[in-house]
Amino acid sequence: MLMAASTIGLSSCRQGQQTGTQEDDFKWVVDKFDDIKVLQYKVPGFEELTLQQKTLIYYLNQAALCGRDILFDQNFKYNLPIRRTLEAIYVNYGGDRSTAEWAAFEKYLKKVWFANGIHHHYSNDKFTPEFSREYFDTLIAAVPAGSLPLDFGTAEELLAVVRPAIFDPALYPTRLNQAAGADLLKTSAMNYYEGVTQTEAEKFYNDMAASHAGDPKPVSYGLNSKLMKDPGARAPYEKVWKVGGMYSAAIEKIVYWLEKAQSVALDPQKDIIGKLIEYYRTGDLRKFDEFNILWVQDTGSMVDFVNGFTENYGDPIGYKASWESLINFKDVAATRRTELISDNAQWFEDHAPIQDEYKKKEVKGVSAKVINAAILGGDCYPATAIGINLPNADWIRKDYGSKSVTIQNITQAYAESSKGNGFLEEFMLRPEDRERIDLHGTLGDNLHTDLHECLGHGSGQLALGTKGDELKQYGSVLEEMRADLFALYYLADPKMVELGITPDMDVYKAEYASYIMNGMMTQLARVELGKDIEQTHMRDRQAIGYWAYELGRPENVIEMAVVEGETYIVVNDFEKLRDIFGRMLREIQRIKSEGDFKAGEKIVETYGVKVDRTLHSEVLERYAKLNIQPYSGFVNPVYEIVEKDGRIVDVTYRYPESYTGQMLEYSAEYSFLPSKN
Ligand code: ZN
Repeated sequence: MLMAASTIGLSSCRQGQQTGTQEDDFKWVVDKFDDIKVLQYKVPGFEELTLQQKTLIYYLNQAALCGRDILFDQNFKYNLPIRRTLEAIYVNYGGDRSTAEWAAFEKYLKKVWFANGIHHHYSNDKFTPEFSREYFDTLIAAVPAGSLPLDFGTAEELLAVVRPAIFDPALYPTRLNQAAGADLLKTSAMNYYEGVTQTEAEKFYNDMAASHAGDPKPVSYGLNSKLMKDPGARAPYEKVWKVGGMYSAAIEKIVYWLEKAQSVALDPQKDIIGKLIEYYRTGDLRKFDEFNILWVQDTGSMVDFVNGFTENYGDPIGYKASWESLINFKDVAATRRTELISDNAQWFEDHAPIQDEYKKKEVKGVSAKVINAAILGGDCYPATAIGINLPNADWIRKDYGSKSVTIQNITQAYAESSKGNGFLEEFMLRPEDRERIDLHGTLGDNLHTDLHECLGHGSGQLALGTKGDELKQYGSVLEEMRADLFALYYLADPKMVELGITPDMDVYKAEYASYIMNGMMTQLARVELGKDIEQTHMRDRQAIGYWAYELGRPENVIEMAVVEGETYIVVNDFEKLRDIFGRMLREIQRIKSEGDFKAGEKIVETYGVKVDRTLHSEVLERYAKLNIQPYSGFVNPVYEIVEKDGRIVDVTYRYPESYTGQMLEYSAEYSFLPSKN
């Protein structure tokens, strides 16, 4: 599971609490286009690592970059030929690059790079090009045919697919449809299924689960494969992502670099990487579980990594995982904060406002640390989470715990890049709230992430007889709500001050005010007018906001104030709001523990999905005035080996020249898959 950046532009005017050295010419923001801001992040502490640790990071960083094409293909089956066609034009076009149409073309390409495909990374809607089909044709005619991705087919065959995919709004309109009622596979452009209906796919995996009924250690069925049915065939089958299987060309490169990494890794990481290689070679999901069990128990290594088919947010029915990688190393000072939380995990579990029978009697292995990202890859690039909690398999989490991280340097880049953008002045009514957020906002955000990841996801247990998949398409939203509510509830606990984690009770008030405002109102800046909310974390936050509002209504705990025609969300009673969060947590835990689909559906559909059109257009208007891009992502540092007499003597890094430069470099150096997979 991952934790997405919860707020947009919220960190305006925050001062202090930043770590890392300031280099004079360092720019936080490297590019802006459409609704996107591209940032770069620092890697504080890299220089202090040992040569062995730096070399390990270098090899893992190479492995992280080799899977980029996989994600493009997973997102939509024509993303690779489209990206390559656009890049062929971008690199080779010799005509006028100063026209408005060229600018529109370039913007479109930047968006495709950012989203790893032609659908928006967040809303999942297909991009609308702002240049004409005719212009596109003149560009195509002006570049050498040999530069086009002709491994797809002839130029005609290629364009017969690429042109309508880009220009026909009726084709592949969304990557991920979650609207109840339709066949979610047929109506989603993601590339995890082909030729199968939703019913067939669900039956396929239900049968698979049933044939292993009673298995206390079920593998994550379907996680690493595409489910196919050939025309005229009766039964679906899986195309497994492994060496020798689907995506082999990229996976072989990943394995190559993992082997290099293994050669310099120390115990226990040597074996952990070895197990991951075994899994990539066999595609055997038991090996993946074995890998995860080893990985989750390694809490001591300074350098750590995620590399594999990991999160299932991109599959409308939740079986298939997108490929991602994150290489990181520990932020020792900041980790002390999360260790304090972890060390007290049992206390938090015991005092949670949930039914006793749904509390874990023994909270196992809640490890938490604060890390700095060294490289982002696959589904972590360019847009990334600010916290991660893995592995996802329920039984492994129960028996071995989970590893939870907060990514400090990414949070830092978000905060630094949005200072002074006017957001708080526009949307936060009361000066005392703005002041509290200025003072404590960053800490509040970070602690929310820590609690959400270290304790929230890992807390609670299922009732006997509940399998864990009963909540179906609402499962991930409800799970995020549960972790958020756990975090919100405990942020306001006197225990936080007692443990020395927060200086006083103002921190939670800052977080409450911004969380509620974001969930009920300002996050709408990320949604297109007329649309409802689709994205999991947004549904989670809106559901919490409006449900809390509803529960607090009799006592006016949260108020929607209108001042001079502008709407503000004001928390009138922070203590009562905390009680409300506690009641909500109790109910969400009950729903999860009992697998109460109906109750879960009702909460999500009532509070988390529908958007008030009037409020929405007001937010968009006020937001537009501020000229803030609602989404951010990152370029990576570039790591380089320093050799002397054939031996590695150091690893250095530099910042890339530009966003476009990095994207073109990745496409040239790390693109291994054919255009047709
Ligand atoms: Zn989460």
